Amino acid sequence: DSVGVYDFIIVGGGTAGLVIANRLSEDTDTSVAIIEAGDLVFNNKNVSDVDGYGLAFGTAIDWQYESVPQAYAGNKSQTMRAGKALGGTSTINGMAYLRAQAAQIDAWEHLGNDGWNWKSLLPYYKQSEHFQLPTAEQCLAGAAYDIGVHGTTGYLKTGWNNGLLGENVTSLINATYTSTGLPYIQEPNGGSMRGFTRYPATVDRELNVREDAGRAYYLPVQNRTNLHLYTNSFVQRMTWDGASKNSTPRVDGVQFTDASGKQKTISAKKEVILSAGALRSPLILELSGIGNSAILQQHGIDVKVDLPTVGENLQDQTTGAGAYSSNTSFSGTADYVGYFSVADIFGNDTCDFNSTVRGSILQYATSVVEASNGVLDQKVMEKLFMIHYDLIFKDQIPISEILVTPGQDRMDFSYWGLLPFSRGSIHIQSNDSTTPAAINPNYFQLDYDLKQQIGTAKTVRKLAGSDALCEVVTGELSPGLQSVPLNASDDVWAKAVKAGYRSNYHYISTAAMMAQDLGGVVDTNLSVYGVDNVRVVDASVIPFQVCGHLTATIYAIAERAADAIKQRYY
Ligand code: FAD
Repeated sequence: DSVGVYDFIIVGGGTAGLVIANRLSEDTDTSVAIIEAGDLVFNNKNVSDVDGYGLAFGTAIDWQYESVPQAYAGNKSQTMRAGKALGGTSTINGMAYLRAQAAQIDAWEHLGNDGWNWKSLLPYYKQSEHFQLPTAEQCLAGAAYDIGVHGTTGYLKTGWNNGLLGENVTSLINATYTSTGLPYIQEPNGGSMRGFTRYPATVDRELNVREDAGRAYYLPVQNRTNLHLYTNSFVQRMTWDGASKNSTPRVDGVQFTDASGKQKTISAKKEVILSAGALRSPLILELSGIGNSAILQQHGIDVKVDLPTVGENLQDQTTGAGAYSSNTSFSGTADYVGYFSVADIFGNDTCDFNSTVRGSILQYATSVVEASNGVLDQKVMEKLFMIHYDLIFKDQIPISEILVTPGQDRMDFSYWGLLPFSRGSIHIQSNDSTTPAAINPNYFQLDYDLKQQIGTAKTVRKLAGSDALCEVVTGELSPGLQSVPLNASDDVWAKAVKAGYRSNYHYISTAAMMAQDLGGVVDTNLSVYGVDNVRVVDASVIPFQVCGHLTATIYAIAERAADAIKQRYY
């Protein structure tokens, strides 16, 4: 039965979806519905607690998708976390607010995305942001910034947590990182990220709570009568406008199960915007008849738009950990990060590594094309991988991130490669929307990814063993000298890396914004190719990995998408 007619329907009240909902409903004559599978979590301590990272994992607000067994990493599957709540994954994430390297956003333009570059995205980063200046004490503890790159009037509060680890600890960690040649940088969010710094978080400092998308973008506008929120409502598919005379197919609504378990259909007069996340939006496209016709037909779905790359190009990163015992206990928020270039990680071996990777590009492309059953194109992948290669070796943008958390009698490092080459996919396995998808990130499919991770693991050991830390660090707990002795071979390191990794939860590109002949799914306005009125606005559209964490960039993309939508209709 039909319960509502709206101008716009937004599927997924998450990080991106709530930005769109807020901006489109600014005009009181425009009606907007948000359909969110999860519930409100404003009173959930696992969300609001600024020191509660991880508390929400495995609870009802974590989708905890499972990957297929990972063929290049011992056939183990991985848990792919994502938030199921108003606010989406921003309610369970690590709250880091870190954008991207300018050159990598500029590279989007080379993928057929005219007008998408750092310079044109920066105003949207700023528009989304309400930067809270650090207190005098936080400044002494190393919180630093360039106000020119921050916004102060946006919805999203960013800044440093109350209770930061203090000045002495910062000096110690700074000395540790700079001992490897990595410079201190004051501002990681201005497009130049290489260095050691103390990064800001998405936090409401006054209330001392997490700043998630719900709190930032929904709460202030929840009373708008033209904005309707359906919670605990699970979208199955979009419906097609059979009466449309348009030669390009149009959708006219969505089907979902409401909070009471009833089947509902609502209508969209203008557009449906999919913001269900990189591990959902492509599935909703497929279930609606937009995707690879071979896959759709296999599951008895009518092909409305044959767009074979829907669900392809899935990219994630892999996280490793290094743990050390310490004779000192620290308590307070650690927001210490180092961003390392290929030369920082590989030193004198950088030239050799460069030659090896350059010589492997054709093979990488072939492997990825084969894994896609020929959906991806050899020449296209060579082109994309050369752009990726140039970012790593010519532009020398950061390739590794290393975080350090000084804690109770220990010091924990976590690290990940920022720019893996491996590509996987996500596809439906049935026409029943509740059947889990086949999610295959193909971790460590290509040897650059493994070598990079090994190089970074070794750098962690170097940091822990630096002169700066030698009075504090007393031993290695993990990976441990027993399993990975000093001077261990790369084979030994590889075993340890593959045995101990997890998903970095930075899934992107499953409905990539690229030219259609490069395998794109959406155009520069984030409209799905071949459909008149469907957009994807979430991490799915990000075509290449970013060096920062994802939300900062997703908020900016969503602000920009809202402008594009307004341009068409307002
Ligand atoms: P989401 O925010 O996930 O929104 C999707 C929404 O759609 C969800 O609310 C979901 O419930 C809903 N939905 C899904 N399917 C349906 C359906 N069928 N019907 C209705 N609703 C549906 N990024 C950072 O910037 N900093 C960090 O520190 C950081 N740490 C992270 C830690 C973890 C554990 C994880 C998992 C991620 C982390 N990230 C971090 C990544 C970042 O949080 C996500 O990439 C980002 O929030 C994704 O935004 P999105 O809009 O694409 O999707």
